[in-house]
Amino acid sequence: MGAFNKYKAMEFPRCVVVGHDALEDVAKVCTQLKLGSPVFLIQDGVTRKIAGDRVRELLEKAMFEVRETEITEADHSEITRAQKLLAETKAAVAFGIGGGRPIDVAKCASFNAGIPFVSVPTAASHDGIVSSKASILGASGKKESVNAHCPMAVIGDTKIIASAPHRLLVAGCADVISNSTAVLDWDLAAKLKNEYYSTSAVSLSRMTAEMMIENARMIRPGLEESAWFVLKALVSSGMAMGIAGSSRPASGSEHMFSHALDTIAKKPALHGEQVGVGTIMMMYLHRGDWKGIRSALRTLGAPTSAEELGVAPEEVIEALVHAHEVRPERYTILGEHGLSQESAMNLATVTKVI
Ligand code: ZN
Repeated sequence: MGAFNKYKAMEFPRCVVVGHDALEDVAKVCTQLKLGSPVFLIQDGVTRKIAGDRVRELLEKAMFEVRETEITEADHSEITRAQKLLAETKAAVAFGIGGGRPIDVAKCASFNAGIPFVSVPTAASHDGIVSSKASILGASGKKESVNAHCPMAVIGDTKIIASAPHRLLVAGCADVISNSTAVLDWDLAAKLKNEYYSTSAVSLSRMTAEMMIENARMIRPGLEESAWFVLKALVSSGMAMGIAGSSRPASGSEHMFSHALDTIAKKPALHGEQVGVGTIMMMYLHRGDWKGIRSALRTLGAPTSAEELGVAPEEVIEALVHAHEVRPERYTILGEHGLSQESAMNLATVTKVI
């Protein structure tokens, strides 16, 4: 037996506040965590009105200095611009206030600037609201997964999340359900490639997906209870990634399919919607209960076919054929060589995706 050389680093939020009127506690959270001033808000025109203005008001009342900017896209130029503003204003902490883009920009800009960031989701459409990964639009027009840091605090107000478009919440549910195949892919990589594997990360991730599948009928438009359930599930997924030290427990072949579809489809659907459809197909390859996944997605009102995603059948096939190229270092059920045109066609047909 060789010398003991195991090593692992875990990163979690220090403070997670979710629930009714959670936003009202923003100053308390900043004070408790000694986050300092100025606080820099990164938002867009819509999320500023939904939450940003109130955050500013509450922080100023508690004597925090507040600076802010509105972003239009989550791309490298907006990250550079935000990072410059953080330096110029000597910001002590950055807030990402929004569904996806403002959080992604705040996550990366604060990471580069070496200051903490607080995630204030206005929608619960994906697990990026809690994780250290950001989805950034690259120069080639392709979305890239960028490593940054996990939020110091997450403030998820169920009243705000429940009033966001229901389609976003449903996409968040599908992103949680995708953990079902992500953990199977990880298990495969551990067995075949001797990859590091965390049983506790897998247990948490799998349990979260199972709870979402079992409670799919509870997710209704406009209900704070539904927003609460989904937020908690996204936080659990984020914790599983924190334990794993990677996105492994929440991102496998079904995510690769979605990333491939992002670059191939003329009009891609939402991240969560695409990974949901990917989960049906990858679960079929894993010989698992793919029909159970499909029926949970249907109950939620999430897309289960190319038509419902609004993409062409040929785009689904191409995405399946190229999915394994998205992250070649991440071994999944797609193997090193991926699917042939014919097997991709069979897979999409038998699972009724096309
Ligand atoms: Zn995801």
